[in-house]
Amino acid sequence: ERRAALAASTGPGATSDGHKVPLLANIGGPADVPAAVEAGAEGVGLFRTEFLFLDDSTNAPSEEKQVAAYRQVLEAFPEGRVVVRVLDAGADKPLDFLTPGDEPNPALGVRGLRTLLDHPDVLRTQLTALAKAAEGLPVHLEVMAPMVADRADAKAFADACREVGLRAKFGAMVEIPSAALRARSVLQEVEFLSLGTNDLAQYTFAADRQVGAVSRLQDPWQPALLDLVALSADAARAEGKSCGVCGEAASDPLLACVLTGLGVTSLSMGAASLPYVRATLAKFTLAQCERAAAAARAADSAEEARNAAQAVLSGE
Ligand code: PEP
Ligand code: MG
Repeated sequence: ERRAALAASTGPGATSDGHKVPLLANIGGPADVPAAVEAGAEGVGLFRTEFLFLDDSTNAPSEEKQVAAYRQVLEAFPEGRVVVRVLDAGADKPLDFLTPGDEPNPALGVRGLRTLLDHPDVLRTQLTALAKAAEGLPVHLEVMAPMVADRADAKAFADACREVGLRAKFGAMVEIPSAALRARSVLQEVEFLSLGTNDLAQYTFAADRQVGAVSRLQDPWQPALLDLVALSADAARAEGKSCGVCGEAASDPLLACVLTGLGVTSLSMGAASLPYVRATLAKFTLAQCERAAAAARAADSAEEARNAAQAVLSGE
């Protein structure tokens, strides 16, 4: 029965009453594209570009090499959206030639956008390669920066995009609580937000995502995390802009309904999760998702939040 439900699950993501929630794929390179297309992804919500930088531990990849890789991905989604994240080096993804080796707390040090602002040549090459890769294609290219802390970060990134003449939407990932708390201010500089719930949980709970002993605090059902999602989504709605989720949270079908109820406008996940999320979302109305979201936020723990949302959606 489950297989039949999944087979029937094709087409754009939507609630049972037709509220559209584009379902996008997270990819780590061109090799992940076929699975995303087969699973019916409406585009790419997170293209992690780190893979390009892993071959050579002393230099950034050439502009030509980057253009070729980006082009392969952009061509696979001719009319779709492709959200490319610029290099997120540091912390759990260190790169020898960019990441300082002597930081006491690398997750709190120079990583993500901070690394790129310290190495403007690396950022400029990547943005130039993206501009060239998108030339002449009808694709809707969006480019976002990881680890944006505040409006100044968002402006520095948008300025760098404009400097190379990139014709794309510029966005900020919300991975640091300060960006969620001041989302309206960040949105003065960029056109969209994308919640990286893996890092957002890490920084909200001061719980290293790589340390199993604190994994309880990494649970994306934590009501404090849901509050930050709601703040971000509300700010985006008030500014008439979009706010997606591209962290692991989006791949949990029940949580995907809750995120939709919180006002999130798209969900991006590994291709394998897409049919499950699509099938679950299609079972409930937007109003039911909103009630489930309110119940989850009223809880005091991740477990209670999950149970409360489940109870609402199963009509208990
Ligand atoms: C996140 O932090 O949620 C995210 C999507 O980025 P990454 O997992 O690559 O840090
Ligand atoms: Mg992250």
